[in-house]
Amino acid sequence: MKLGRIYPKEALRARAQYWIERLNARPKVVRIQNMKRKWGSCSTRGVVTLSTDLSHESRPTQDVVIVHELLHLKIRNHGRVFKALMSAYAPNWRSVLTGTCTMGDDQVVRSK
Ligand SMILES: [Zn+2]
Repeated sequence: MKLGRIYPKEALRARAQYWIERLNARPKVVRIQNMKRKWGSCSTRGVVTLSTDLSHESRPTQDVVIVHELLHLKIRNHGRVFKALMSAYAPNWRSVLTGTCTMGDDQVVRSK
């Protein structure tokens, strides 16, 4: 394993922890693993998964995905309340996720 790839991943994990505390979210576990076609997912059992590639994105982008998945632990749709909370915590979510998060699916699909 290359050392250079460990630190961004740990930084992403730390960011996830920050949001877990701020949102008072209770994921069963947060995984960071390679996912080619999506940034993150949230299972019905409370497992939040973030893409390793997300660790190389900007912090605002990371925040959008992390907040999105953590909010899904409480709200399992993309309704008005969900959008209001996204706007409150990660105001740039529309620019990051426009057209990339499919309704009824708990996975944030990558735009690139
Ligand atoms: Zn979603």
